[in-house]
Amino acid sequence: MASDLYALNDSFHEVELQDTVPQSTNLCDACGKRYITKHGLKRHIQIRHEKNTNMKCHICQAVFTEKGHLQGHANAHHGIRP
Ligand SMILES: [Zn+2]
Ligand SMILES: [Zn+2]
Repeated sequence: MASDLYALNDSFHEVELQDTVPQSTNLCDACGKRYITKHGLKRHIQIRHEKNTNMKCHICQAVFTEKGHLQGHANAHHGIRP
């Protein structure tokens, strides 16, 4: 059945897969979702996870949505200047 899914690659590249798909499929390390294409997985990571890893205080793990907020936090709470 997996080969049938791959045959639909072009139109189904954004579709999340069910348990019938092999573990080797592009797997998100953060949440375990699987995608047929690397592109689909990459887009998912950018949308769902990237801001969390980019805007995270490496000292206290606080997460921010804007880089300015993170820099302001680091300065105020940890004495780190941008
Ligand atoms: Zn994910
Ligand atoms: Zn912090």
